[in-house]
Amino acid sequence: MVKPITFLDLPAQQKRLGQRVQKRVEHVFQHCRFVMGPEVTELEERLASYGGARHAIGVSSGTDALLMVLMAEGIGPGMAVFLPAFTYTATAEVVLLLGAFPVFVDVDEGSFQISIASLTQRLSDVQQQGQYQPRAIIGVDLFGQPAPWEELRAFAQKHDLLLFADCAQSFGASYQGHKLGHEALATTLSFFPSKPLGAYGDGGAVLTDDDDRAALYRSLRSHGEGKQRYDVQRIGLNARLDTLQAAILLAKMEIFEEELVRRAKIADLYDAGLPTGIKVPQRVPDSQSAWAIYCITLPTSQQRDSLQSYLREHAVPTAIYYPKPLHYQPAYQAQHDGVSLPVSESLGECVLALPIHPDISDEQGEQLLEIIQQWAENNQL
Ligand SMILES: *Cc1c(COP(=O)(O)O)cnc(C)c1O
Repeated sequence: MVKPITFLDLPAQQKRLGQRVQKRVEHVFQHCRFVMGPEVTELEERLASYGGARHAIGVSSGTDALLMVLMAEGIGPGMAVFLPAFTYTATAEVVLLLGAFPVFVDVDEGSFQISIASLTQRLSDVQQQGQYQPRAIIGVDLFGQPAPWEELRAFAQKHDLLLFADCAQSFGASYQGHKLGHEALATTLSFFPSKPLGAYGDGGAVLTDDDDRAALYRSLRSHGEGKQRYDVQRIGLNARLDTLQAAILLAKMEIFEEELVRRAKIADLYDAGLPTGIKVPQRVPDSQSAWAIYCITLPTSQQRDSLQSYLREHAVPTAIYYPKPLHYQPAYQAQHDGVSLPVSESLGECVLALPIHPDISDEQGEQLLEIIQQWAENNQL
């Protein structure tokens, strides 16, 4: 009997971690510096060197990381920020929290990453309308793969736009031979438990090569403080990373590389074994995914729903990222100009995420493929 496959298996990961987490956590209980303890600095050093950035700043979540990065540039009313419509709400939410205007951009059908053609069109829409000043782009590394950074950088430079990376899902991925972490002015990370590098609670970080921005982020995460504690230089946030989460992440960093290898192996297994009528995620050239999410595309929404039910009947959990693009969400109705973003709209109908994590065995993966093959035969796919 093969053990049932799960969408996420944190108990199995705990077993692999052995005593690493306990030792780290016990040490925190000994020194009791629960806020901004030494583990935060140690983790920041690890993250910076891993991501190839000069600075890492630990923060309370991926969302706060994005918020701070935009705050630091004075993003606010009258400004337009471009971002994909096919992403998690956090990417757009922070723009609105600052009173700026999110401009939704379509994505590429194969890779799910932001489309440069759509970005070009959307910039021209905003310029023609003349109501908002184009100010920044948030590129999202979706599902574990890198956004098209080379093209995004050229575009941002040509149009004098600030460029930021929402790497919440993809820390650990490589692009053009190096780890993600310095593709943009700042890169934001999330340590939400289901992300490839997950804490046991909320957490995040900002990576940057820019000394001034790094200093600003450190100030913003701690109420806008200056060099001294009660020296209030600016309006900031309470957005620090907990020492305990930093300690847990330090333990998890030790097995992170092995986990990425294991995720990639499962992705290869799925790529090779899925029926040809099902589209596997297109790989971004010259990159290695962190495989946060393995998302297949079915020809029709009926087939997607049918496969999802079939898998559910066979005790295989799946998920849909994202059923509704952001410009269709009730919360963003006032921000959308009615332009159709056809790829983001149709993907929601046809995508299905299969379980992918380091504790899926080859046997479990093969069993999953057999179930999908049965379904495909029953449905002449
Ligand atoms: C998870 C996620 C975030 C937010 O991270 P939190 O740590 O949950 O606040 C932002 N952007 C994307 C694309 C995400 O997947």
